[in-house]
This record gives sequence, C-alpha cells and structure tokens, in this order.
Amino acid sequence: MGCRGVGKQKILIPDVKKSFFPYTLHPTPYTLLELMVELKRLEVGSFENNCYILTCPRTRESAIIDPAAEPEKILRAVQGARVKYILITHGHLDHIGALEEVQGETKAPVGIHEQDARALGRKADFSLQDGQILTFGDVSLKVLHTPGHSPGGVCFLAGKILFSGDTIFPNGPGNTAIPRSDYREILRSIHAKIFPLPDDTIIYPGHGLETTVGREKATSFYPLPQEAERRP
Ligand SMILES: [Zn+2]
Ligand SMILES: [Zn+2]
Repeated sequence: MGCRGVGKQKILIPDVKKSFFPYTLHPTPYTLLELMVELKRLEVGSFENNCYILTCPRTRESAIIDPAAEPEKILRAVQGARVKYILITHGHLDHIGALEEVQGETKAPVGIHEQDARALGRKADFSLQDGQILTFGDVSLKVLHTPGHSPGGVCFLAGKILFSGDTIFPNGPGNTAIPRSDYREILRSIHAKIFPLPDDTIIYPGHGLETTVGREKATSFYPLPQEAERRP
C-alpha cells in the first residue's frame, strides 16, 4: 500500500504489484486517487458486495456504483458530495439491496441496462447503453455492455479503472450456472470488451478484491467462446 499526500489530503494508493496472490487486504473503505478521481470501496452486506463511490475532487460530484446493502454506511460515505448518478452493474438483488434508501436520500437518478431493469421493481430513471459516457465533475465513465452473467450486465470504465460487476473476478468469469446467464456469452463479452483494454487496467469486481486485465489474460480461465464447452 503506497501512501501519498495530495495537498492536505492523504490518499492511499494500493500497490498493485503487492496486492495479489497472496491477497493483502486493503483497509476498507479506502481511497484511491487515479485520474483525478477519489474512489471508495465499501464492503457491504452478507455477500461481501462492493459498493463503489467515485467522486470528482474538484466539484465533489459523485457516482455510486451498486448500492448493495447497508444504506447508512453508503450515505455516510457520500456526505459532502453531490451524488449525480446511482449506477447498477446488473439486476441481481445482492447489488441493489440499499437502492431504495440511498435513492430516497440522495434523489439521484438510477441507471441500469434495460435488459436487467425489471429487477428494480420500479422504472429506472435512465437506461444504460453500450458506449454511453456519463460525466460527473471532471470524471467520465464509459458504459460497456457485457452480457453473460445476466443479459443486462454492464461494466463502467474510467481511464484505467474498470468496475466489472459480476462479469469478471480474479481467476475467472462470473457465475453462469444461474437463470438468464450464459457461459459462452460471458466469455464473448470478456474477450470483446475487457481483454482489449490495456494490461494495467485495474478491475474492481462486484465482490472481493481487485485484479488487472493483464493478470486475467495470462490465466487459462478464459477460453475463446467457440472453444468453450457449454455449461449447464
Ligand atoms: Zn450477480
Ligand atoms: Zn453479485
């Protein structure tokens, strides 16, 4: 874990080389300064979901990715920020458990891909679409539609940081042994949308600790979709 002073703030920067295999746990939540964005990872709920909070340090505008559980913890972490978006990586209940309270308090619009939107139990405020750019303060997030774990699964890319939901984790794709998921499709998404990114792109998944594109590409856990056995 590197530590760098930026103005009066002390920003913790994970040392990527040291943070894998064996994992060293980062303090949670921690803050990362990368491309002028402050990043907090909150581990919440009983499925160890990650809720990420990105904030532009200049304007204090924020986006919340996956308000999964423990709304008080999430709301505490966005104090002093103006939440411009609540973004949902996909419509599984463990990723949206605190949505109602967090939306009620922040009044921020909720975005999800339309193919997963019915999970919300209400109308989404806007639909996430592949290639769409979302801006808050000086920060831009690009939406990548990465179906496979669910039909409306998306990742969010900010510079060399990817928030991958349940599409990709250290050592493999997300679970596809569940309804509406497809093993070949998740491999197709990973090969088409994630592996072309620079090797040093950090992947922050929906559960657990981070990895990088290069590290995952170097493993054998991602056969090409046409070579993959169909899984049940
Ligand atoms: Zn999921
Ligand atoms: Zn999940």
